[in-house]
Amino acid sequence: MQNPFYEIMLQRNDGTAPVHTDFTDMRFLCDEMLVRLARLLRAAGYDTYLASDGEPDSDLIKTARREGRILLTRDKRLAAAAHESVLIRGFGVDAEAHHLSREVVLDWEFAPFTRCVMDNAHLRDAGDEEVAAMPGAAPERGRPFRICPACGRSYWPGSHVRRMEARLGRLARDAAIPPQA
Ligand SMILES: [Zn+2]
Repeated sequence: MQNPFYEIMLQRNDGTAPVHTDFTDMRFLCDEMLVRLARLLRAAGYDTYLASDGEPDSDLIKTARREGRILLTRDKRLAAAAHESVLIRGFGVDAEAHHLSREVVLDWEFAPFTRCVMDNAHLRDAGDEEVAAMPGAAPERGRPFRICPACGRSYWPGSHVRRMEARLGRLARDAAIPPQA
């Protein structure tokens, strides 16, 4: 059965004014070709399921429907078969993300670094002792230090997080510019 909220979650960027601006419910499912895009969406805070290698298309479609996820794929046949999907074009994660921004209204700075980029789990705030053990902790007081409860990976404002923040910032600024007619 169709998720009743599903229809309004996919607000296509087709020049009409957005009627649905609550980004908090938007969830994605990426095919296995879109590993880096999936990680970027997770870094932005979006609940993103990443298909494992060889997972059948029919299962992906079922999962997307059941969980109300927008299916992102590079496969034309899969995009055509899925009810709510976006056929992703472009080469490299930036081009893929730009393409997605043109198709769907989303906020690349929705909830940065609240999910693990590797496994999609919600991050928890690190305790004082855990923060002290992270490299680069001292000069960055006041910024969030988080830990993934699933894989134990820690997130602190080091170079990797900064690079992703910069990328998300660029995407957010570019997405704010309306597409040319
Ligand atoms: Zn994790």
